[in-house]
This record gives sequence, structure tokens and C-alpha cells, in this order.
Amino acid sequence: MEAKNIRNFCIISHIDHGKSTLADRLLELTETIEKRKMKEQVLDQMELERERGITIKMQPVRMEYKIAGVDYVLNLIDTPGHIDFSYEVSRALKAVEGAVLLVDATQGVQAQTIANVEMAKSFGLVVVPVINKVDLALARVAETKKEIEKLLSNENVKYTEEIFEVSAKTGKGVQELINHIVEKVPAPKFNYPNRPRTLIFDLEYSDHQGVIVYTRVVDGDIKRGDELLFFQTKQKFIVGEVGTFSPQKKSASVLKTGEIGYIVTNIKKPSVATVGDSVVSFNKPLDPLEGYMQSRPVVWAGIYPESQDDFDDVRRALERLRLSDSSLEFDEEASGALGRGFKCGFLGMLHLEIITERLKREFGLSIIIASPTTTYKIVFMDGREENIYSPFLFPDEHMIKEIYELWTDLKIMVPPDMIGSVIQILNSHEAVVGTTQKFGDSNTILEAEMPLRELMKNFFDELKSATSGYASLSYKITDMRKAKVGEIVRLDVLVAEEPVTAFSRVVGKRRIQREAERVVEKLRVLLPRAQFAIKIQAKGLGRILASRTISALSKNVTANLYGGDRTRKMKLWQKQKKGKKKLQKMGRVKIPHEVFVKMVQ
Ligand code: GDP
Ligand code: MG
Repeated sequence: MEAKNIRNFCIISHIDHGKSTLADRLLELTETIEKRKMKEQVLDQMELERERGITIKMQPVRMEYKIAGVDYVLNLIDTPGHIDFSYEVSRALKAVEGAVLLVDATQGVQAQTIANVEMAKSFGLVVVPVINKVDLALARVAETKKEIEKLLSNENVKYTEEIFEVSAKTGKGVQELINHIVEKVPAPKFNYPNRPRTLIFDLEYSDHQGVIVYTRVVDGDIKRGDELLFFQTKQKFIVGEVGTFSPQKKSASVLKTGEIGYIVTNIKKPSVATVGDSVVSFNKPLDPLEGYMQSRPVVWAGIYPESQDDFDDVRRALERLRLSDSSLEFDEEASGALGRGFKCGFLGMLHLEIITERLKREFGLSIIIASPTTTYKIVFMDGREENIYSPFLFPDEHMIKEIYELWTDLKIMVPPDMIGSVIQILNSHEAVVGTTQKFGDSNTILEAEMPLRELMKNFFDELKSATSGYASLSYKITDMRKAKVGEIVRLDVLVAEEPVTAFSRVVGKRRIQREAERVVEKLRVLLPRAQFAIKIQAKGLGRILASRTISALSKNVTANLYGGDRTRKMKLWQKQKKGKKKLQKMGRVKIPHEVFVKMVQ
């Protein structure tokens, strides 16, 4: 297809505003997916996505459409809405010229909508604003329209004036929207019609075909047999196959300038390819395209194989996952009790949860996860500087000369009458409250700064429940700031008098007592009972802060000995007592894998 008849766009919005459902309607109207194969949110193909009803991976798909006798190709990329996956969104945005900005008419503009618009603006995209869910009785179409207009004019972004109203559920207005997209989203521009240059926005690995590149062709054409080059690693390859997404891979004879598709490289070394790299011609390479900003992990957690024999399997699994999720970081780490494992960096708690779940489901691995933490930079008394990523390595107060931690900028959108309770929660999380600004008739934007450590401590859930779900949040990590020595401390957890490194955590001193009690109680509920009593303690600030005991299973061996010989009973009792003592002394309580997973949440 000629570039002038191609339209590349993505759908962006706050979570649950209907991106994947709108994609369904577009796929239906363009007859990309056969009716009998259609199902709800058809682009959410991963098992986890379908189960949870959320999009985790961006998903490109190619549609063909005719308007007034002219054939067009529409390449759509559906994106995730959750803030943990905004890196995924930023990569999708770089591959397209336009963004459909969807706003749920019952919710109006939300914090994440604002963040989306800022992102679209920074990529120079044309924004096509669309109000969704107009079929619902609670839809506030006129108000939502005002909010969108205000947002777009504030942000000074390129956008199409007309605001479309659709129901992604019933399909109302979707046909008109397609025509509008074709008319308003610019066709791809290019500089070199004959010299190939493409940007890698995603990667996949297959045992048969090696590395498969998901790409947007920026210049030139690409076909089977071409000699190309991964620019960064200078790795040459011969194209084995090219094709497009329907949304399954479908081979094609050529990928033309401006198109979105895949390239099979047949290279069996995953490390040659990185997201954001350019693929260029081997003989006449053009300069690389501008890549992506590197994402920065927000939380770190140790991942250890339950059995040390699985260490290499865990590494291979992480390498595979990183290929299709370049925001995942990992590095080898050893912890005394847990053995060898990996310190892994994630973009948030949901990201961590999804990755550990995928390790289990897609790779069948049993792993232990240590309590997550943010990074701390510590200057020791002897002048040594170190970044700490693992709570069990967090030093005692007397060893620390200076300590630095990450801070965030928050934007919270909330109805004005709820500001009071939001500020209360902000204060309890050590936030510095900034300005408030009216947004539309029914909303306020509240800005604040907060240590990342506190943001991770249930802040979002507290915010949601204090505002009956009305508040929405977006945040950015800003900088490292100095904290007071002694205000951030380590809390250790002991099970049967032995510290369990995976349960150690770093907390603000103000909440250490609460946290100690919470952790001990949680473990008490989660740990299975044993034949002996198990003591669970939380220790911090040099003393035991909380303690609970799980009583022994009362399996009495004499229970089914009726009457009979009294001395025989006594003998058995004695024996049982001794047995219990022995078990207790050996001490090691087996902590099941699920307990580690649940303790993270
Ligand atoms: P996403 O997170 O933006 O991809 O949102 P989804 O497409 O997964 O939709 C979230 C929920 O909103 C689902 O339960 C959809 O069925 C529902 N939904 C999406 N669009 C509409 C609509 O136009 N009307 C109604 N009533 N529900 C919708
Ligand atoms: Mg979705």
C-alpha cells in the first residue's frame, strides 16, 4: 500500500474507558476478524489479560477499509491503560501519527487522561478526541465535552476540533469515527523511499524463527532475502519473512514505507535485539532513528528459585520476558538464606505481580519473591556510597551517614468536596501538598510531592476508598532527595526465631509499629500450622515490635485408644512430647511458595 493511503494510530485513555472494546468494533466494521471468531476485547490475547479484563501488552492490528472507492490500510495499536504500563504506551505512540483519545462519558477526564495527552503532545501526534459509553443512562456527554475541550486547549496539543460521540459497546458512531480518522490522521511521512530504516517497538522470540521484530517501517521497503543490520549490536541478518498483524501474524511479500508489521530474523541470540534500536540496510545503512527514552524501574524485588536447581531456568525465563517487555530489568543477586536469584526492577506493583504470575504460568517455575522496595542511595560512615535495592541489605542506623530516596510528583483529580479527606491521606504518607486548581465544574486537580516509598504503601487503595473511587491519580518520578537518617528503617521478620530475609522490608519510622503488627498478623493467617508451635516476630529499631504464635496442630496420638492400658497411653504421650521438642529444635519451618507471593501484596 502506498504511504498516502496508510493511517497509523493508537487508542489511549484512562483504564477501563473502553479502548479494547472500541478496537473490537473497528475490527468488526472493517471485517478484519470473521464474525464467528469475534469475542469481547479480542485483542487482549494473553490468558492473564482475559482473566483480569485488562490490557497488559500493546497489540498492533492491520485493517483494510474502502472509502469512496479508495482503499486504505489502517494500522491500529491498542494500548494498556494502567500507569505501570505507560512505557508500553510511549512505544506505541512513537510508531503512529495519530491518537484516538477516549474518554468515558460517565467518568469524564481523569488523571491518566491528562498524562496521555501530555504524552501524545510530546510525540507530536494528532489527537482525535472521542467520548465513549454514550449509551449509558449516567453519561454526562455535555460536561465531558467541556472537560476535553479545556484539557486540549490548555495543553496546546494538535487536535481535531470535532469531538465524536460513540458507544464502543453498541457500535453507535463508530463508522463515522473511522471516516474521520482517515480524513484527519496524517499519512506517514518518509525521507528515503529506497533505503530501508525501521524502528523496533517490540520483540518476540520463537524457537523456530528466532528473534521476530515488531516494527514501523520509516523509510524504504523490506522483503524476504534483504540483508539488514541491527544498528546497535551491528548484527547482520537475512530477512526470513515479513508480514502484518491480523492480529495473528500473516506473511506478506513486502513491508512498505509507513507500514507496521513484523520481520523474521532467524537469529537465535535474543540479546542482539533491543526495543528502540533501528534496523537498517546492511550495505547502505542510514543513520539510526531516535530511540526511546530508557524506562526507569520504580520498585525492586528479589526473585529466587524455590529450588536452586532451577536457577538457569529462571534466568532464561526472565530473558524471554524481557524481550517482549523491555521495562523489566534484572541482575544476579545472592542472599544467604535464599541462595542465588535475581534482583528485578519493575515499573510498579502491578507490573511485579504480572511478571511473577507469568513466570509461574508460562514457564511453570516455583519462585520466592522478596518484599519489594524502592532504591536508596546510602553514604556510609566510612564515606562509601552504595545503592540499596534489597531490604535485607539495608544497613543499621549507626552505619549511615547520609541517605537519599526517590520522590514523585502526583496529580490527583478529585471532586472539590473530597479534597479534605485526600489531604488527610497525603499527610499520613509524608506528602508535601502543592496547589489545587479547578478543572471543569465538578473536578479539582491537586498537585503534591511524595516519597516513592510511601506511594507504594497502599496509597492508591487508600485514596480510592476515601473518595469512593472518585479520585484518579497519575505520577512521575522526579529526583533523589536527602532524607533524615533514622527516619527510614529496616523491619525484619522472624519465623521460629530465624530471620526470613525475603520478608525484610524498609519502612518509614512513623509507620514501623503498624507495619510490624500488620506483617505478623498477615503471616499468622497465611502460614500453615505445624506439629509444633511457631513463633512469628517482627523486629526493628533493635527490639521485637510484634509477636504472635501459631499453635501446634493438636493431633493427639492417643485419641483413638479407648480405655485400656494406662501405662501404654503415658508412654505414647511421652514419645510424642519428645518428638515435638525435636522438631522445634530443628527449627526450619517450611514456608510455602504461595505465602511469599501473598506477602508481597
Ligand atoms: P480499556 O481498559 O480502555 O481497554 O477498556 P475495555 O475495552 O476493557 O472496557 C472496560 C469496560 O467498559 C468493559 O466492561 C466494557 O464492556 C465496558 N465498555 C466499553 N465501552 C463501552 C460502551 O460504549 N458502553 C458501555 N455501556 N460499556 C462499555
Ligand atoms: Mg484494554
